[in-house]
Amino acid sequence: MSGALRVPFFDYTALFRRDEEGFLEVIRDVLGRGAYILQRDVREFEDRLKEFLGVRHAFGLSDGTNALMLGLRALGIGPGDEVIMPSHTYVATAASVHFVGATPVLADIGPDHMLDPESVERAITPRTRAIMPVQLNGRTCDMDALQGIAGRHDLVVVEDAAQALGSKFKGKYAGTFGAFGTFSFYPAKVLGCFGDGGALVTGDDEIAERVGLLRDHGRNAEGRVVAWGTNCRLDNVQAAVLSHKFKSYGRDIERRRQIARRYHDAFHSITDLVLPPGPDDDPDHFDVYQNYELESGRREELLAHLGEHGIQAVVQWGGSAVHQFPELGFEVSLPRTERFFQRCLMLPMNSALSDDDVQHVCETVRACYGLSREPAA
Ligand SMILES: *Cc1c(COP(=O)(O)O)cnc(C)c1O
Repeated sequence: MSGALRVPFFDYTALFRRDEEGFLEVIRDVLGRGAYILQRDVREFEDRLKEFLGVRHAFGLSDGTNALMLGLRALGIGPGDEVIMPSHTYVATAASVHFVGATPVLADIGPDHMLDPESVERAITPRTRAIMPVQLNGRTCDMDALQGIAGRHDLVVVEDAAQALGSKFKGKYAGTFGAFGTFSFYPAKVLGCFGDGGALVTGDDEIAERVGLLRDHGRNAEGRVVAWGTNCRLDNVQAAVLSHKFKSYGRDIERRRQIARRYHDAFHSITDLVLPPGPDDDPDHFDVYQNYELESGRREELLAHLGEHGIQAVVQWGGSAVHQFPELGFEVSLPRTERFFQRCLMLPMNSALSDDDVQHVCETVRACYGLSREPAA
């Protein structure tokens, strides 16, 4: 093979082309109505989200980072408060806490790569106000354990479900466990728009009222300013695109789970690899596979081999957990996370992959370990 790119990690254009006419029609409709900010399309998308998740309130917001910030502000979390979260997350999770004036406290991951309840318990201090689990890679944490800790220590749970719309733990959706949950619709997310977008959902009327004011300059339903607010609105074009994509969201998730199943069957016998849980492994979890992230003791070799065969694999967050950015000033040591970041990589995982693409990834990884193309039946 020449090394020409055959399976990109994420193909933004392919997702557009797949339904080009549908998208253009939706966008033309919004533009033609002159309805750009907080109009029907945003409300309709919020209604879809509420119905899908079974929550009382949903707000279309500018992006997932601001969604977290608004939720934290609505809860009154600020200077002097600490919020515990995993270090294996996007820096935005920690930044949202930093920018409301509170302190992000980073905890380790467990064997499942998700926020480790024991590490959370060790990180609790008299200043701790909240636990912020990250529903990473489309999987929901063991919320029983985390909510148990929160209950015993009188802490609030707030969820960064940016990567996990549609994921469930014990039948309950990511984003609906805590005081609020947030989502991102960044283009590469499971439900992505053509730009930035996010949402916050909550069952709490007071949080909802504050977030509604905060996102739109403190203006109430009559347009009167009744509090300090800012501008964090999802725009109507993106909302309409999201509603359109939401119609086939179930199929998109099923496709991701199907690809995960293929990967699982092809790789589970390779002892060097630590795979994410398979889609049918544990009835308590329903994973939507935002990413397929695995561990390998021979990561660099595997990455090079995939590259030689035109497959783009990626190390999440540019290869560093949040506490590993020295400029951010964290001084914790998190052994599991640190070991993980020496070994982790992500294979292409999205609903635009063809069966041939998936087959090529399966064969290429197997060949790197000297295995035949197909696993034994
Ligand atoms: C993408 C992401 C965010 C941030 O979302 P934006 O919409 O890009 O602001 C936050 N947390 C996690 C875990 C993410 O993956």
